[in-house]
Amino acid sequence: MNGKLNVQTENIFPVIKKFLYSDHEIFLRELVSNAVDATLKLKALSSRGEVDGELGDLTVEVKVDKEKKTLTVSDRGIGMTAEEVEKYINQIAFSGAEEWMEKYKDVKEGLIGHFGLGFYSAFMVADKVELRTKSYKDAKAVRWECTGNPDFVMEECERAERGTDVVLTVSEDCSEFLEEGKVLDLLRKYCRFMPVAIRCGEETVWVDSETDCDQDGKPKQVEKKQPRIVNNTEPAWRKQPSNLTDEDYKAFYHELYPMNFEEPLFWIHLNVDYPFNLTGILYFPKVKKTIDPNRNKIQLYCNQVFVTDQVEGVVPEYLMLLHGVLDSPDIPLNVSRSYLQSDGNVKKIASHISKKVADKLEEMFKNEREDFEKKWDDIKIFVEYGMLTEEKFCERAMKFALLKNTEGKYFTIEEYKEKVKALQTDKDGNLCLLYATDAEEQHSYIEKAKAKGYDVLVTDSVLTPHFVNLLERNVEKCRFVRVDSDVVEKLIPHEDKIPEKLSKEEQEKLKPLIEAEVDKQKFTVEMESMESDDQPMTITQSEFMRRYREMAAMGGGMAFYGEMPESYNLVVNVNHPLIEQVLKEEDGEKQKQLIHQLTDLALLSNGLLKGEALTKFVERSVEMIK
Ligand code: ADP
Repeated sequence: MNGKLNVQTENIFPVIKKFLYSDHEIFLRELVSNAVDATLKLKALSSRGEVDGELGDLTVEVKVDKEKKTLTVSDRGIGMTAEEVEKYINQIAFSGAEEWMEKYKDVKEGLIGHFGLGFYSAFMVADKVELRTKSYKDAKAVRWECTGNPDFVMEECERAERGTDVVLTVSEDCSEFLEEGKVLDLLRKYCRFMPVAIRCGEETVWVDSETDCDQDGKPKQVEKKQPRIVNNTEPAWRKQPSNLTDEDYKAFYHELYPMNFEEPLFWIHLNVDYPFNLTGILYFPKVKKTIDPNRNKIQLYCNQVFVTDQVEGVVPEYLMLLHGVLDSPDIPLNVSRSYLQSDGNVKKIASHISKKVADKLEEMFKNEREDFEKKWDDIKIFVEYGMLTEEKFCERAMKFALLKNTEGKYFTIEEYKEKVKALQTDKDGNLCLLYATDAEEQHSYIEKAKAKGYDVLVTDSVLTPHFVNLLERNVEKCRFVRVDSDVVEKLIPHEDKIPEKLSKEEQEKLKPLIEAEVDKQKFTVEMESMESDDQPMTITQSEFMRRYREMAAMGGGMAFYGEMPESYNLVVNVNHPLIEQVLKEEDGEKQKQLIHQLTDLALLSNGLLKGEALTKFVERSVEMIK
């Protein structure tokens, strides 16, 4: 029989070829999915006693023949009768899978089909598509052929075995799909975890020889060719968590990312069936300060068929740093990303994942505090990022997010407030949390703060400026003060002031002398009453100014502050004997030299003395010692 396909327009094929899928390569996913579906249906029918006899080897096979320019996908599934080919293949708009699912609702678990125009995607890469199929029912085998226009041929044919072959005659411009290597790559990408074994070509393995032995009488190793199976039909995420050991989870991680040699820190096994269907395993990797989101991305599957690793919109942004797989038949496929983001199911999935992650972290915090602390440095970036971007997650994480001090001890926010409130509450009743972003560079400031009995936090993540702002918003009467943002006396303003040794007049006289010797653009000279054994001069940068510069550098829409020159305070300790000496010095030259020496020392301890200024300082110091 010859006929015309029931399509809306004569021009459907060029449309399929060009626009239906941006990626031509997915035709293989569609055809292999159909073959796997047909096989699963057969198994389901057989388990209900609706198929006679043995099922035999059910492996799906993908074969290329370069000479004939064909690519064949064969299965030993349910096959189709002539009526079914007419119905499912010729009436293009009809999705057979949907009808089948309707009929066998209870076994639909595991069925792949709902990729829409699946079968017809073959025309993206083929000039001709031939179908040879024989149903498991007692019916004649059918051959169907179509050359990429709405005309088709359908006739009886000879075929002994149940099942279906789909033979593509690959078009000239798609000849890459005739390379076994390319086909293998695609199978490994899209079909790696499909639930029925898929064979493609052969592979060579080393086995014990049956005839030859070596000197010790052990069998020699010989090469042997065997069918190459490209997939793992039972991936870990489909199993029950109770049946998996830690080793199984780690092994699966390495199966997913063979190029990653680090162990994951921990993982979350997702297993939801209401109100949507979602399985998967999310791994928390070790994240260093730099994040490379392009490697080891989360993979999205639909009933074990790889869909994409572009998970924007499905996974909350902060969790894109995680690794692993998500599998859900409820995520619409082959649709644009903006559609994906507005899809109700997708939104529910995203918030569910977020909730599960919070559950897991809270559980670890409660039950394995010590272990949780050990892992904290590696996971804090997720948690901080999550707190910054997801309100609900933030609410929960306020309970288990940790702060670390310079002694390497960890505290929850509440615990830390309790710890420091006695000494670090300022005269207005605000809690002042001191922090350092670089314990090495800010060493002298940290030491001074500690000497006063203060505690100093270390916050060295890339998110620190944002995170500090967030905590100030969420914790009442609390402010963060970087340990080098002021001299220690003023970090946490208390009532009691140290009496000043120099009178106001003397200070007025001294200030311009110092100002004359420093770069006024960069430094603001401030006279301050400090302990006499504190440094004579100190460099600080105001918390406000520094934060805005940091935010501007991260692109926070505060470019103006980013363009402003770096500015610092040069704080002069009016109680230090050397400062008094400067004032009393009568020789103008010597006075200048002393001022230079003191400012340079302050710059030096802040890592700001460089280049020519540093050379001069060294020369001057040698002169002074002589
Ligand atoms: P979908 O799989 O989304 O339903 P397809 O166009 O890929 O759409 O397939 C249409 C129908 O053709 C399938 O639902 C199935 O009934 C039938 N079919 C396709 N390939 C096979 C196959 N290899 N064996 C049996 N039936 C098949």
